[in-house]
Parts: sequence; structure tokens; C-alpha cells
Amino acid sequence: MQVFNALQPLREHVKQWKMAGKRVALVPTMGNLHDGHISLVEEAHKHADIVVATIFVNPMQFNDPKDLENYPRTEEEDQRKLAAAGTHALFLPSVSTIYPHGIAAQTVVEVPDISDLYCGNSRPGHFRGVTTIVCKLFNLVTPDVALFGEKDFQQLFVIRRMTAELCMNIEIIGVPTKRETSGLAMSSRNNYLSDTEKQTASALFETLTWLKDKVQSGDVTFNELENTAHQKIQDAGFKPDYFHILDANSLQPASATTTNFVILGAAFLGMARLIDNLYFSR
Ligand code: AMP
Repeated sequence: MQVFNALQPLREHVKQWKMAGKRVALVPTMGNLHDGHISLVEEAHKHADIVVATIFVNPMQFNDPKDLENYPRTEEEDQRKLAAAGTHALFLPSVSTIYPHGIAAQTVVEVPDISDLYCGNSRPGHFRGVTTIVCKLFNLVTPDVALFGEKDFQQLFVIRRMTAELCMNIEIIGVPTKRETSGLAMSSRNNYLSDTEKQTASALFETLTWLKDKVQSGDVTFNELENTAHQKIQDAGFKPDYFHILDANSLQPASATTTNFVILGAAFLGMARLIDNLYFSR
């Protein structure tokens, strides 16, 4: 696996791969890699000849400086995992490489409206940071295909919209969420949990599953269901952030005629803010 820290050498390699007719896949991450990230790399191999992963803890998408400071950084172990998964190239830039004029002076890319809802409401500016860094990585790597986890459903939605609206010729592929046997979605933020909290943490998946079963059985009292979910997750020991029963195609509140649903959930447990979702048809 070739490791790049600077823009130009990576650009030159991409140019050579493209001239040789290779298809290039991009897997952006913030590191502290787990099996969920590796499943993106494995899926990338099915769609391209060259897999480029990136590790960059993007300060622009953190609204809480403490969260940024505490974010787990495990670069050596990450590099081993990526190499073992057959990753061809890793881009590991510094903050000043990505933001040479500083973050405040950075030109931004923002998908309006949807970026302010749900996780965007709880974390103001988060999605502006995500779309800006992903756009920069797209321009740098010019991938044919880019892979993102369905675990971050709203992020995937926002990136699909940015790609379509800015006429980027990149196929966006969503990869199913990898879970622990308890149902807990794998996440770098699970590292913030104590062993006891890890046991409690599966209550988020269980509450989403409870909501899904209710909706699939024909229940349309969405507000009541969301309120009950709040109570359930609170009783389990979480501090609820939100539950939203949405139309998966628009990310707007579901109605009685909705057929494709996604239920987004977010809640705090100890030091961690966990998110998860389930999508399904009725
Ligand atoms: P992150 O490092 O958290 O920014 O995640 C990098 C990519 O991995 C994003 O596209 C995430 O949606 C994806 N990802 C994170 N956790 C999982 C998971 N449990 N299963 C599948 N993909 C995931």
C-alpha cells in the first residue's frame, strides 16, 4: 500500500492509473478503523481496480472542540488493517495540507435545508464540513466510484445530493451497516463506552427495531411512536437526542402513504453520542 501525505504525488499516481485505464474507488474515513470501514474497502474492490482510502479527522465537521480532541487516532493499526484488506493507496494528509488558508477562510460546499435537519440540527455546521471535505477529496482523487456507510444515512443522502447537483461524474455506493452480535452498530465512538455501557448500547438498535416493527405492522401514529421511543431509550439509560420516522426517498417526515421508510435515531450514552438507523419498505 502506498501512503501519500501530500496532494501532488497522489494526483500524479491517479493520473497514471487513469491513463492505464484503471477504475478508481475512494473510501473516505476518519480512521480508528473497524470492520465497518473494512467492509467499505471490500465492497470497493468489487467496483474498481484501484482502491484509495483516506484517513483525515476533519476539524471542519466537528462542532465540539472536545469531541475533536478526544477522537481516537490509531494510524499504525489502521494502516495494517487497510493493507491487509488490499488497499492500494492511503491518503493521510495534515490539517494544513487540506486547509492551507485555515478553516475560517475555506471555500465551502453546502447542501441546503437537509444539512440543517436531524444530525445537522444537533451538530450545527457538521454537514457543511462533511460536504466540503468530501468535495475536496473527490476533486483530488477524481474517483469513478466512492463508498459510504449506510450507518450514516443522512450523510449518504447529503453526499448523493451534492454529487448529483454539482454534476459530479462519480457513482456513490452505500454499504450496509456492520453490527456487533448485540446489534450495536460498529462505530469509532463505541470506544468511549465502558463495558457496562456497551451492554446498554444495544438498546438503540432494539428501540429502532421496535419502531420498525410498529411501522411495518401498519401503525401510522408516528409522533406517538417517536415519543415512546424517547421514553424507552431514556429508561435504558441513554439521554435521547432524536428519533425520526422518515420517508427514505426525501428524508422528510413519513406520511400514511409512505412506502420506503428510514428511521433515524441518535442518543447520548456516557461520553458518546451514538447514531443508528433502519430502513425498510411497507
Ligand atoms: P468515519 O470514519 O466514522 O467517518 O466513517 C467512514 C465511513 O465508514 C463512512 O462512510 C461511514 O458511514 C462508514 N461506516 C462507519 N461505521 C460503519 C459501520 N458500522 N458499517 C458500515 N460502514 C460504516
